[in-house]
Amino acid sequence: MATQYDVVVIGSGPAGYVAAIRCAQLGFKTACIEKWLNKDSKTVYGGTCLNVGCIPSKALLDSSHKFVEAQHHFEVHGIKTGKVAIDVPAMVARKDKVVTQLTGGVKSLFAANKVDGIAGTGKLVAKDRVVVTDHTGNQQELTATHVIIAAGSVPIEIPPTPIDQQTIVDSTGALDFQEVPKRLGVIGAGVIGLELGSVWARLGAEVTVLEALDDFLPMVDRQIAKEALKILTKQGLNIKLGARVTGSKLTKGSKPSVTVEYTDKDGEQKATFDKLIVAVGRRPFTKDLLADEVGIELDARGFIKVNEKCATNIPNVYAVGDVVRGPMLAHKGMEEGVMVAERLAGKKTQVNYDLVPSVIYTHPEVAWVGKNEEQLKADGVTYNVGVFPFVASGRALAANDADGMVKLLTETKSDRILGCHIIGASAADLLQQIVIAMEFSASAEDIGLTMFSHPSLSEAVHEAALAANGHAVHIGNKKQRH
Ligand code: FAD
Ligand code: NAD
Repeated sequence: MATQYDVVVIGSGPAGYVAAIRCAQLGFKTACIEKWLNKDSKTVYGGTCLNVGCIPSKALLDSSHKFVEAQHHFEVHGIKTGKVAIDVPAMVARKDKVVTQLTGGVKSLFAANKVDGIAGTGKLVAKDRVVVTDHTGNQQELTATHVIIAAGSVPIEIPPTPIDQQTIVDSTGALDFQEVPKRLGVIGAGVIGLELGSVWARLGAEVTVLEALDDFLPMVDRQIAKEALKILTKQGLNIKLGARVTGSKLTKGSKPSVTVEYTDKDGEQKATFDKLIVAVGRRPFTKDLLADEVGIELDARGFIKVNEKCATNIPNVYAVGDVVRGPMLAHKGMEEGVMVAERLAGKKTQVNYDLVPSVIYTHPEVAWVGKNEEQLKADGVTYNVGVFPFVASGRALAANDADGMVKLLTETKSDRILGCHIIGASAADLLQQIVIAMEFSASAEDIGLTMFSHPSLSEAVHEAALAANGHAVHIGNKKQRH
């Protein structure tokens, strides 16, 4: 007999597990179905983000950053270390430990909030019925007043470079190398390519990034993207723009390699790598998820179609996270999960899609929210620019970490903040101050009149706000109006 729930969530990534917990907090009898299995065939919750995404990539970024610090930057502080070496299996094992801790944490949160975690692949067979098949083939049926689909996304594969997870890997394979590849190729200079390319470059790999587009990070403010390209190139990433991959040849044996063929402005090219990471984007995952007769509509790119409240075309069925339109970011999915849960409880919660912060966790980090300068120009907005370089920040100099800048864009007439773009140490955390300010429709003057701790990196945000109105204290003020 089917078990009846108020809410059944399919998928326990950040969008799904947060939706499930919030539903349970609001008094709904809630189940969350997950098909992800670990090496011992045990169900693990947390989805891409916790298992093979945000968390493990940041664990490796943090470890490899410490390695670079110890190798190259301690000496300037007067710290002598002797020869610094990297133990890659130990670094990867630490990453796995962090993942296990956090996925276990989701399981505990389910228990604490009385969410029933259900192992297996969930298929929506009617608008209020989900059949769950576990990895041994056992089936059970759940009925639900409401269904929330949070099935996430998977890496895109491209025909010229089929993934074998040995020599040609996707982002998941790139988190588990057991030694530093001497020559590492990366296809795609997007977020994953730059983050994982940085990890292995810091550990000593010669990294070549092949990017099809002629522009570097086209979604990022041009001034910031230019600075990022300069810094990342200096760190050893050989980023080739306008490089279109056409094919690849694997050489097997004791030292496997792959030769990638690509074309660029100079014609046909070849490059040979010991490992190749393919990071050309992700696609929504809806395999074995939806019975045709339910009639859930997908868009042309395979995303489940939803409105701004994450409702699908079928009443009482919602979809959140990477499986629907919008940026593929954990925090965007989490907020959608909360919104759906709270709206089921009669609240009027919304997601502000204009204020989704984005971060690239290279060092320095690149973080932005709102409009960039190019978008403001295209929209015909009259705006002011306030820029503060970290080289003028006492705290950044004390830390010997003064690359980059804070750039604030405001509407000239109202002084309202329209966008913020940061490249620098801790950019993600610095940006959040401006996300909150923008959520409250703050002006640059509001930020300027706020007291900031000294010395702190946050002072760069304060000074950028002052600079937007031409009265920064710790830099010269130029004409800022555009
Ligand atoms: P997912 O996390 O993909 O979870 C979906 C879950 O649903 C999976 O566990 C899957 O097994 C399960 N599932 C699917 N179908 C079924 C079914 N039929 N039955 C049962 N279960 C099912 N985002 C950030 O915001 N910050 C970052 O720093 C960041 N770093 C990243 C680094 C990497 C290497 C990658 C790959 C991604 C990164 N992302 C990051 C993106 C982030 O991981 C995703 O945006 C986020 O995980 C999406 O959450 P989700 O819940 O929608 O889907
Ligand atoms: P992406 O969209 O960020 O970058 C893919 C890049 O590959 C683009 O620059 C694209 O032009 C390029 N490309 C596409 N096809 C190509 C080809 N055939 N040859 C060469 N280049 C090609 O995608 P991603 O880096 O794979 O990341 C996927 C998603 O995961 C992103 O949308 C992002 O939102 C999310 N993510 C977020 C974070 C974070 O928030 N820090 C980190 C990692 C991933």
